[in-house]
Amino acid sequence: MKISIVGTGYVGLVCGVCLAKKGHNVICVDSQDEVVEKINNSEATIFEPRLSEYIEEAVTEGRLLATTDLEYGVVNSEISIVCIGTPYKHDGIDLSYIEKAVRDIGRILRTKNSYHVICIKSTVIPSTTDTLIKNILEEESGKKTGEFGLAMNPEFLREGEAVMDFMNPDRIVIGSYDDKSFERFKKVYEGYFEAPVLRVSLRTAELIKYASNSLLAMLISYSNEIAAISEASGVLDAEEVLYGVTLDKRICPKTDGNLIRPEIVQYLKSGRGYGGSCFPKDLRALIAFSEGLGYVPKLLKATAEINEKQVMKIADRLEKELTNLEGRRILVLGLAFKQNSDDIRESPSIRLVKLLSEKKALIYAADPMALGKARKALEGYQGIFCLEEYEKIPINFEAIVLMTPWQEYLDFLSNGNSESLKTALLFDGCRALEKYKFNESGIKYTGIGIS
Ligand code: NAD
Repeated sequence: MKISIVGTGYVGLVCGVCLAKKGHNVICVDSQDEVVEKINNSEATIFEPRLSEYIEEAVTEGRLLATTDLEYGVVNSEISIVCIGTPYKHDGIDLSYIEKAVRDIGRILRTKNSYHVICIKSTVIPSTTDTLIKNILEEESGKKTGEFGLAMNPEFLREGEAVMDFMNPDRIVIGSYDDKSFERFKKVYEGYFEAPVLRVSLRTAELIKYASNSLLAMLISYSNEIAAISEASGVLDAEEVLYGVTLDKRICPKTDGNLIRPEIVQYLKSGRGYGGSCFPKDLRALIAFSEGLGYVPKLLKATAEINEKQVMKIADRLEKELTNLEGRRILVLGLAFKQNSDDIRESPSIRLVKLLSEKKALIYAADPMALGKARKALEGYQGIFCLEEYEKIPINFEAIVLMTPWQEYLDFLSNGNSESLKTALLFDGCRALEKYKFNESGIKYTGIGIS
């Protein structure tokens, strides 16, 4: 199929590259010249495992090209998949970027004679597609929906595992305006991907995305609530408690005597809380949407509130352990909001570094992939040193804080050979390390959920 992707950031680029890998002909449209230039030069604009390799292959084989020319993309494709950002602003999501793109697509449809489907992949609140988007398209194209198709196909990929997730989806949710839109749009996946297709209304598709993200965010905040109770007790460790919880056969069933630990168990873990471009904004958007309907979503509000406090708690714990933070040398490992990604949007680690800087600590920060983006985000903050090689720096840190569990940090910290580890407080903000190992070695280990 000929497919245009409108907006090639994290989601659009992965989507476009993976669809090309599966055999479609893809045109990536982005408003930024540098994004387009990089893609056409077979370069990834973001870091995701396997992405560079797949881009190179698709560009070389002529199945992927990028352009800033939206008209070229729409005219030369049967389907346009809109993947434009929907950031949260004031009291709801900011639809201005998506509105502009859809308005431009509508104008192009005015003179396009063949049937074209517009699919929204961006995360948007229920009713956006069948009211705002539909109305704009009709107004600008001078056509009635039906003459062109309309679909909503939420994206569930996880950053850091985006390519694997896109290539191996667990479900494909398609909301469609009518049968014709559905029949045409499902061809994007049919025969290319093995996953159940769930056909729903446009609004149901929109809400499934928010409901999925809020469930996962809620599990994280639930775990952090257990962590707060454990810390307050003075003796408990939340991770021991949560491990006990997960052994429930309704969570981790046994098959042939083997315990299965489903991936959802990864969210039943205490730590520095969720970040990234999705969970925080999607929670806020769902809360605002719900309140707009006259229903106060108490559980979602508590989830967001608990999360908001996690980073502050780490700073408080460090302040308590080190007596005060002024002039204290603190190594922060990990700046991306999660491992295997260079995304720092709403990263708890960036928030922590800013907070420690305000408290006049000396922060040495490292990340294998996000250092460039972090440097820009931290411009103007005092006492921050971004390190390319954290292992070799001859500094006696007073605290080392693990904020993003990159494998290289887990190896470095678990190995315990570094001189700085023997003298510094090791604070595990992800609860990714083996506590008992440190107890035996004499390293002072603590973290979220430990009293
Ligand atoms: P992003 O900010 O990384 O990318 C958006 C891209 O759209 C940018 O490259 C920008 O230049 C481009 N753009 C903006 N206006 C344009 C226009 N008029 N024409 C062409 N290009 C334009 O955003 P993202 O993280 O990829 O998220 C996109 C959407 O997908 C959001 O709604 C998000 O909530 C949703 N989503 C994101 C993820 C994720 O993990 N990042 C996962 C699932 C869903």
